[in-house]
Amino acid sequence: MTRVYNFSAGPAMLPEAVLKKAAQELVEYGNSGMSVMEMSHRSDEFLEIYNGTVAVLKEIMGIPDNYKILFLQGGASLQFAMVPMNLFKKSRKCDLVHTGAWTERAIQEAKRYGTVNIIASSEDKNFTCIPELDRTKFSPDADYFYICTNNTIFGTRWTYVPDTGKVPLVSDMSSCILSEVMDVKKFGVIFAGAQKNIGPAGLTIVIIREDLIGSPMEMTPTMLDYRTHVKNDSMYNTPPTYCIYMAKLVFEHIKAMGGVGEMEKVNRYKAGLLYNYLDNSKMFRSTVVPEFRSLMNVPFVTGSDDLDSKFIKEAEKKGFLTLKGHRSVGGMRASIYNAMPVEGVQKLIDFMKEFEVKNR
Ligand SMILES: *Cc1c(COP(=O)(O)O)cnc(C)c1O
Repeated sequence: MTRVYNFSAGPAMLPEAVLKKAAQELVEYGNSGMSVMEMSHRSDEFLEIYNGTVAVLKEIMGIPDNYKILFLQGGASLQFAMVPMNLFKKSRKCDLVHTGAWTERAIQEAKRYGTVNIIASSEDKNFTCIPELDRTKFSPDADYFYICTNNTIFGTRWTYVPDTGKVPLVSDMSSCILSEVMDVKKFGVIFAGAQKNIGPAGLTIVIIREDLIGSPMEMTPTMLDYRTHVKNDSMYNTPPTYCIYMAKLVFEHIKAMGGVGEMEKVNRYKAGLLYNYLDNSKMFRSTVVPEFRSLMNVPFVTGSDDLDSKFIKEAEKKGFLTLKGHRSVGGMRASIYNAMPVEGVQKLIDFMKEFEVKNR
């Protein structure tokens, strides 16, 4: 078996050690006589897995005690609706910084339930940067302030956490959770789909400060009310049990590797290698303003569509997969999440150098 280097934006690579451990335990977990997939979510065995998952995530992210961790379904996309439904409590107004396709989705959804003030946007710059903020535009009575910390499609990243004062900060961290150290207490809500840095698709993690839970809008369905999931430890209905188990293995793996700080160090190194090459290449270039370059998603172009497709095709033959850029950006995109080994990035750069010489 040859494992390829998969540069997919999501579902993305998982650590090989985790896959092997899961394979070992696939048919029988411990001495349970069954697979985790076959277990009742109310069984002692599964509850142990569940509690372990919460505990390790809490530890590696440094989540304070006044936050709840929820394991939900519906993807990050469902949070675009759950956040406003649960957080529009008083003014039914939020401030939002528009940085690309994923904040666009959040805007469209939140608008159905209240007012979205776009206080800054990088749309006029093709989303190649994080826009500057003018504090005088912040609404002091907003129910929340919304950002997307890492913009998977355009490859930009917030390099700081905006100070929103008393207004709770909500962040979509789908493509950067666990990739760098985050000070959780600066956020009111953090959410992330699992399929980029956590585990298989089908699980969404929500980390929410306790005082924000409660008093959702009247029409909020039971399943979309955070209270339902808080009260029932994410087991109001059947949770995505196997995904939770896989997430636990990934969290334990991160812990064993030295924690999120260590992940960040390696991620900075990996991204640095690639950007450094792109900045010195005569054929390829990064599409993002240097200050705001993502550590996780690296879009790049040659400037010629023909050359881009030739590159993608030849890369595929060499075992560098899913390098095609998002349809809205074109060119290429290398997603280099936690599970992408340094060697994968180094080998990609070697291949790019070779391609550059041959196609000069
Ligand atoms: C992938 C992604 C989403 C969508 O996640 P789903 O789980 O497919 O709904 C939302 N936001 C960001 C930043 C993403 O990268």
